Amino acid sequence: MRTQPTPAHPAPTEHRVLNPATEELLATVPASTPQDVDAAVRRAAAAQPAWAALPPGDRARLLRRFATVVDEHLEELARLEVREAGHPVSAARWEAGNVRDLLDYAAGGVERLTGHQIPVAGGVNITFQEPLGTVAVIAPWNFPMPIAAWGSAPALAAGNAVLLKPAETTPLTALRLAELALAAGLPEGLFQVLPGAGSVAGAALVDHPGVAKVVFTGSTAVGKSIMAACAEQVKRVTLELGGKSPNIVFADADLAQAAAAAPGSFLDNAGQDCCARSRILVQADVYDDFMARLEPAVHAFTCGDPTEAGTSMGPLISAAQRERVRSYVTEDAPAAIRGTAPQGKGFWYPATVLERDPQDRAAVEEVFGPVAVVVPFRDEEDAVRLANATPYGLSGSIWTRDVSRALRMSRAVAAGNLSVNSHASVRYWTPFGGFKQSGLGRELGPDALAAFTETKNVFLSA
Ligand code: NAP
Ligand code: MG
Repeated sequence: MRTQPTPAHPAPTEHRVLNPATEELLATVPASTPQDVDAAVRRAAAAQPAWAALPPGDRARLLRRFATVVDEHLEELARLEVREAGHPVSAARWEAGNVRDLLDYAAGGVERLTGHQIPVAGGVNITFQEPLGTVAVIAPWNFPMPIAAWGSAPALAAGNAVLLKPAETTPLTALRLAELALAAGLPEGLFQVLPGAGSVAGAALVDHPGVAKVVFTGSTAVGKSIMAACAEQVKRVTLELGGKSPNIVFADADLAQAAAAAPGSFLDNAGQDCCARSRILVQADVYDDFMARLEPAVHAFTCGDPTEAGTSMGPLISAAQRERVRSYVTEDAPAAIRGTAPQGKGFWYPATVLERDPQDRAAVEEVFGPVAVVVPFRDEEDAVRLANATPYGLSGSIWTRDVSRALRMSRAVAAGNLSVNSHASVRYWTPFGGFKQSGLGRELGPDALAAFTETKNVFLSA
C-alpha cells in the first residue's frame, strides 16, 4: 500500500467518471500526485492558524454561511449525486441536505468547545481543546457527500484545515463543495479537495507529516493498512469500516411491520451501505410466515431510473462492484427471492434474498450489494450468538414487542448503532461508529468536534 507506482504501472493522470445508470462519460478529473498533495498540505498549513484564531462566533458564522450556500445549491448537488453515484433523486436530496445540516450543527459547536476547570491544590487547573492542524478525510463512493461532510464539518468547526480525498469513482460533488466553500467566504486553502487514486493521493495524505489526523471510511482491509501506516507517526485516526449487520426478528414482533421494513434495510443505496442489515435472523417459529410477507415487500422496492421520483433503488456503482456482488450468488443454490432490474446499459443488479447457512461466504462477508441472507434461530441466546458471530459490529435491528427483551438484546449485541422496531441508525446529532473491526472512534453526535482536538491541560500556580 505504501509503494509509489512503478514505471511499469504508471498511475493514471486522470480518472474517468461514469454515470453508473447509463455508463456514459460524465467527466475526466485530474488525479492528484504526491507533489499535489504536498502543495495542498502547505496551503492548508498556511491557512489554518488564522482560521483557528478567528473569534468563535466568526468561525461559526462562516460555517453557517457555507451551510446556506449548500442549501441554495441543494438541487444541483443532488442531481450531481444522481449522475455520478446512481442514487435515487429522493435519496440524493436527503444527502445534500445532510451536508447542510452537518455544517449547521458543527457551527453550533464552535462556541461550545469548552474545556474544564478542575480543582487542584496550589493553583488553577484548566483544559483547552486545541485543533490538530490539518486533517485528511478519505471518503468512499457509497455516500460521497454525507461521508465527506461527516469528517470535514466538525474538523473545520474545531479549527482545523481539511484535505478531502473523494473516491475515484465519485469526485464531482466533493469538487463542487470546495467551490461552494470559497463562495461562502471560507479562506483559500482551508478546505481543499484532492481527487485521485487511493494508492497514490490517499497514501500520500496518510504518509505526510503535515497531516495530523486521517478520517477514513471504506473497506476494512484498506482501513487496517491505513491504521498501520498511521502508527509510524502516531497519527490520529478515525475509521468507519465494513459491516455485516443483523436484523433480528422475534416471533413476538409485529411481523407485518418487520417484513415491510426489511427491504429498505438492505436495499437502500442498492445495499452499498456499511449499515445494511444484510443478515436477517428470524425466529424459527415464524420463519415461513416472515418469508411469505417479505417476498411482496422486496418486489415492491422498485429498481430503475434514479432520476425518477418513485424509484427506490438505482444501479451499483461500477461493473467491478457488480462482479463482486455476483460472486456471492452462486448458481448451485437458487435465491429464495429475486427482484427485477433494468436490462442493458448500467450496472444493474436485482434485489436478492438467499437462504444459506451461517458459515456461507454470503452470510459472513460484506457483500455491499442488494443481497441479504436469511438464517433461522431458536431463542434469544441463539440470536445473540449468531448476531455476534462476526468480526464486524457496526449496526443492527431488533424486532420484538417485549420491552425487556429489546433492552436485553440491545445490551447483548456488540455493535455501535442499534435500532429497536426500526432500522434508523444515522442522525447527524447522534454518535455513529463501530465495535470490533467495523471501526475506531465515533463520528457525528454531540462529541463530534472533540475528535478533532487535543486536550491540553494547564496548571497555573497561584
Ligand atoms: P476502499 O478501497 O476502501 O476505498 C475507500 C477510499 O479509500 C477511497 O477514496 C479509496 O480511493 C481510498 N483508498 C484506497 N486505498 C487506499 C490507500 N492505500 N491509502 C489511502 N486511501 C486509499 O473501498 P472500495 O475499493 O471503493 O470498495 C471495496 C469494498 O469496500 C466494497 O465492496 C465494500 O465492501 C467496502 N466498502 C465499505 C464502505 C463502508 O462505508 N463501510 C465504503 C466503501 C466500500 P479509490 O477511490 O482510489 O479506491
Ligand atoms: Mg479500493
